[in-house]
Amino acid sequence: MENWSSNRKLAGSHADWQVRLAETLNPLSDWSNALHDIVMKVMDGTQLSLEDGVKLYEHPDLHEVGRLAHHVRTARFGTHAYFNSNVHINQTNVCVLACRFCAFRRGPKATDAYSMGIQEYISDLERYAPHIDEVHSVGGLHPDWDVSHYESLFKRVREEFPHVAIKALTAVEIKHLGQLSSIPTKEVLSRLQTAGLTSLPGGGAEILDDEVRAIICNGKESSEEYLRIHKEAHELGIPSNCTMLFGTIESLEQRVQHMISIRDLQSQTSGFQCFVPYPFLPDSSRLPQAQLATGSEVLRTIAVSRLVISNVPHIKAYRMNIGDHVAELALQFGADDIDGTVQKESIMHLAGSTAPLDHDRARLARIITDAGCQPVQRNTTYESFSIYVPPKIVPKRNLKMAQ
Ligand code: SF4
Repeated sequence: MENWSSNRKLAGSHADWQVRLAETLNPLSDWSNALHDIVMKVMDGTQLSLEDGVKLYEHPDLHEVGRLAHHVRTARFGTHAYFNSNVHINQTNVCVLACRFCAFRRGPKATDAYSMGIQEYISDLERYAPHIDEVHSVGGLHPDWDVSHYESLFKRVREEFPHVAIKALTAVEIKHLGQLSSIPTKEVLSRLQTAGLTSLPGGGAEILDDEVRAIICNGKESSEEYLRIHKEAHELGIPSNCTMLFGTIESLEQRVQHMISIRDLQSQTSGFQCFVPYPFLPDSSRLPQAQLATGSEVLRTIAVSRLVISNVPHIKAYRMNIGDHVAELALQFGADDIDGTVQKESIMHLAGSTAPLDHDRARLARIITDAGCQPVQRNTTYESFSIYVPPKIVPKRNLKMAQ
């Protein structure tokens, strides 16, 4: 099967993945005693508790936690690992807020502040449009751009590039547009959907704990508002992703509770398609008290996400943030998606990311095949898939490693 389609709820998962999973986790004696209760819950589809999630964080054998998560992703998707052909266009860095972790925002008078007018945005997108099927756009909270600005922008994108899906705007941007336009957030979403919005990328969740948010992103939407706006999107038929920024000041309990909050909403709406956990990238000036995540902590967090958020189909190794090398390993720790060709991105790179931007499909596929997976190109909403066969690479040296 080279091309196939799926519905939004399964989003490419095997329909009988829970049965496959139970078979692969047996026998229980393959697992250390300390994990038996968790393995049994995963086997029979019981949701893990807050205590279970923390236990997975504290379990001394990282590889065993990763192996358990890998079994779940393999039961759902086999060896498939997903990517898409997209471009990130960050439409403005002007923002009325000043979240402490953010290296991207600028005040309106800053010399390097920018705001792309609609024609400028269209001209930029035109360069990439022949090679992509998704534009991913998030940016600052511009003081003058209300919902009608984005309606005009999305309509132009739709008219000029009907094959390009628009994945755009975080919950706080939706809230800001509602405030500027004096309309409820659900009406903002509905109007943008009519104008062409396909899905929400899910950024800005940070940690869904208002005590943490008061310190790292004071003034941003509350946890309840983030979840409510996503719920409204799902009710309108707009799917979304959800994120988690970890490695600032949060506790392990707050991380796991964040995952459980996402899972609880998903059990009501089935509108989340992908969970994207990514670590805070530090520099010397922002949030000096951050407890930065190490590489193994990134892998463990991806694995715990896969195990705790059992009802969101996809877990993304967001290579723009964690880099290609960790992303490759993450595909063996529960992640099944590696984002896209990207080509252009500002937010993570201003925060310190060194992930390359010039990947074409063949280079992305190399990361996937080196992780022992099969590259599959997907559309924005995980409803259509095609196997991608990369060009054959002639090795420069004949090293007989397994792949
Ligand atoms: S994270 Fe978003 S809302 Fe916060 S300062 Fe940066 S651009 Fe503005």
